[in-house]
Amino acid sequence: MVGVDHLDSPVTVQIDAYTLTEYVPAKPLESNLEIVFSNTEQTSITPQPDPCGQLNCGSALKFPFARADSAPVAVLIADAKELVAADVSTATKRVVEITLDTGSLGALDYDPGDTVGILSSNPPQTVALILQRLNLSQQADSNCYASLALNCAKKSAKVPAHIPALTTPREILTYCVSLRSVLQKQFLSALASCTSDLKERSFLASLSSKQGSAHYQTLILERGLCLLDLLELCSSCQPTLALLVEHLPRLLPRPYSIANSPLEGSDQLRIIYSIRADKPGVTTSMLETMVEQHQEQKKPVQLYIYPRVQNTFRYTDEELEGNQILIAVGTGLAPFLGFLAHKQLCRQLATGQTWLYAGAKTPQAMLKHEQLLSWQKSSIIQRLRLCYSRSSMNDQPKYVQQLLEQDAEQLVELLQQPTTVLYVCADGAQISKSINESLRCCLQQVLNLNEAEATQQLKDFRAQGKYREDIWL
Ligand SMILES: Cc1cc2nc3c(=O)[nH]c(=O)nc-3n(C[C@H](O)[C@H](O)[C@H](O)COP(=O)(O)OP(=O)(O)OC[C@H]3O[C@@H](n4cnc5c(N)ncnc54)[C@H](O)[C@@H]3O)c2cc1C
Repeated sequence: MVGVDHLDSPVTVQIDAYTLTEYVPAKPLESNLEIVFSNTEQTSITPQPDPCGQLNCGSALKFPFARADSAPVAVLIADAKELVAADVSTATKRVVEITLDTGSLGALDYDPGDTVGILSSNPPQTVALILQRLNLSQQADSNCYASLALNCAKKSAKVPAHIPALTTPREILTYCVSLRSVLQKQFLSALASCTSDLKERSFLASLSSKQGSAHYQTLILERGLCLLDLLELCSSCQPTLALLVEHLPRLLPRPYSIANSPLEGSDQLRIIYSIRADKPGVTTSMLETMVEQHQEQKKPVQLYIYPRVQNTFRYTDEELEGNQILIAVGTGLAPFLGFLAHKQLCRQLATGQTWLYAGAKTPQAMLKHEQLLSWQKSSIIQRLRLCYSRSSMNDQPKYVQQLLEQDAEQLVELLQQPTTVLYVCADGAQISKSINESLRCCLQQVLNLNEAEATQQLKDFRAQGKYREDIWL
């Protein structure tokens, strides 16, 4: 039995129990690259985000959904505060609000609802562990480059665009490749061929086979074992850096919603993130470390962000004059805090109704609860409906879907007004689907429609830009 305990919760796997006696391993991935060390001297490339690996890749590397001519830029963390404390008893995630000093971005033109991409990095301890396994600790900061292997026969083989032309092993593993991606069977088979211990090799090969699909489903897809876990489970597995560079996917930036109004003050953006206690994600872990460093105040802490292209999930001057129905679950309230702050600052122009339906685990987990009540009091919000899924009061609605159905009559009436826009923001596709279902039920009930007609009505609303959604996957 081997225990895996890196940054995630400990995973214990008895590898024999997941090794078949008869199987045909998947065809291993080819190895078309090699890593060439250009000299043995240490470089000045440091393991912290300055410079940030993927920024060294030149203009050929695009950042997903980046606005035209907007490369990622370093911004400083100006402030950080905990909005919600983690609570295991109610499965409440810790939520933190960070204020970024964005002076370096120049005049950033944005509306509430817009998002920025944050460049992610893998934790230094994890990178150090992998370097050690790859037997590269001594060369971690030496200059190297990836090139096609001399014997490479595959015509389409190429060096991935997210690897800088001149780099170091540490830079590649910190900023360029995803160490937590779902491992494909062929990759597992390639890992098996880099494993000397017979038991471990059989485990990986068996997991890669068609016959081992049930185990692959359990360990890789359901329990989420990633490269790090497998390296820990299989101590004799020693892949090459070239194999990892070629087959691990790019470490992608993650989108975050801007949670303030552009009118609140120049050069500042607020971002709100939640972090899982049991299995913290890569970017949220990075942000947590940065927040700690900021609070220790030893040196300014910077991260790289870029403005993403705008879409219709926005609250612009046009929407100010209309009505909004805002539906949020959990941290999904973040963009709406920006909408509401903006409405407050544009009071004269904001003539419409704003109804907010928000759900959280508990009242303590509701983002900016006091602020919401104050906005209700000052009529920024005309209708505020809150619910708590872990509430012990059985007669109270627990989910926003119930709140919507309770208000069906008036909700549909408001929704039908030409200037009303409905926005849904939830951290999960399942919740958004379920909200869609509740809205369909409201339409059916109030307008006497059948299921197909109500479904079509919602589709039409989406097509008309009356029903806008941000789904955080
Ligand atoms: C348009 C858009 C706007 C977004 N805005 C925000 C925002 O304002 N605030 C915000 O916190 N997130 C937001 N997200 C989600 C965010 O981009 C990340 O997906 C999230 O922070 C987890 O990133 P990670 O790198 O830490 O997790 P990963 O390492 O990518 O984690 C792997 C998986 O674990 C799960 N996971 C990890 N952390 C969490 C978490 N805290 N909650 C739920 N599941 C989790 C997810 O399924 C994730 O795919 C937004 C997403 C989109 C698409």
